[in-house]
Amino acid sequence: MIMCPTCGGPDCIRPAEDVLDSIYQMYMACPGCPPEPGWDKQAPLAALLHGDTVDENTLLCSSCRRRALDGVMGHVLAVMLEHGDREEGAGLALVGTPLISCGFPIMYPPRLGQGDLVLIADNVHPDTAEDIVDRVPEVRGVVLRVGDQAHSVGILDPDSRPHEYTLLAGCDMRCDVAMSALGELVIYKSQSRIHIEFPRESGHKMNVLGKLDLEGLLAGRVVVDGMCGPGTLGLMAVLMGASKVILNDAWRPAIENVLLNLEVNRGLLDVEVERLIPTGDMPLIGDEPVLVARASRGGNTIAEVYFGDIRRLAGVVDDCDVCLIDSFPTADPSEYVKIWNDKVSCGKVIVI
Ligand SMILES: [Zn+2]
Ligand SMILES: [Zn+2]
Repeated sequence: MIMCPTCGGPDCIRPAEDVLDSIYQMYMACPGCPPEPGWDKQAPLAALLHGDTVDENTLLCSSCRRRALDGVMGHVLAVMLEHGDREEGAGLALVGTPLISCGFPIMYPPRLGQGDLVLIADNVHPDTAEDIVDRVPEVRGVVLRVGDQAHSVGILDPDSRPHEYTLLAGCDMRCDVAMSALGELVIYKSQSRIHIEFPRESGHKMNVLGKLDLEGLLAGRVVVDGMCGPGTLGLMAVLMGASKVILNDAWRPAIENVLLNLEVNRGLLDVEVERLIPTGDMPLIGDEPVLVARASRGGNTIAEVYFGDIRRLAGVVDDCDVCLIDSFPTADPSEYVKIWNDKVSCGKVIVI
């Protein structure tokens, strides 16, 4: 059992194999589920309920004990209205952004059970958030969005001030399934401190890896994932047969997620993970790269995890074939590209 590093609970984190075994049925309606309500997202809640109140039994399926997303969001909206966090007449569209706890591309509206949703919301008070987590069983956590929606969570570069959302209640730990032609991995994220990635972005990253693989630049190669975030690209490169992957990030929450994700995907990656130093006492933003963990297979080091500045990492890495630079869309990676172009002898620097 892996305890959740955020809330300490036993239910937030599951090994990747467990998640992947259940994911295709996880959000599908059961034969007994009531039909999809298809509520108008702009209509006032009262108009949708036709005089009824909403509670945890509204739209609940009596056989699988799950609800349609509309029912869950309607319940959340009712709590927000009670607290005055939304104006009378507000529709479901104004509640916030629902993130399912195991994200993967689904072509149908999800049915949600206990703890299946992390809600990202603007303008919500802490006591309202507590009440939502207490009363709406499907909501695992409520995260307050701070600033513009386009402003990514994390750090733009090691010189910038971090941008974080605020976890108001419950737990914000959730995962996304990364899918490539060579297999799938499960990537957990502390969602108030890590960039929210939608399937299109993730698909783009996997396409970049697929192309590298076709060019012969992945299997048997040394790959640097210089701004690795929670580790999606770097860990997938391990799965795709890289001989060694160096994962690095200057944002401590990202590194803490990478360590968790190595553990979660240990079986699929066929590695043993060794933590070299505790991360708890480290500063929030790294500078000189520090080796914090190592993953090995049959005595060979397959992955190294560094906490530090991507520019300084070039002084620590002996050589590599590919350097992946996955910076925020608003960042200018040209300085990193220049440094790593000098480092990568016969391979490539790729800006994602
Ligand atoms: Zn948790
Ligand atoms: Zn059902």
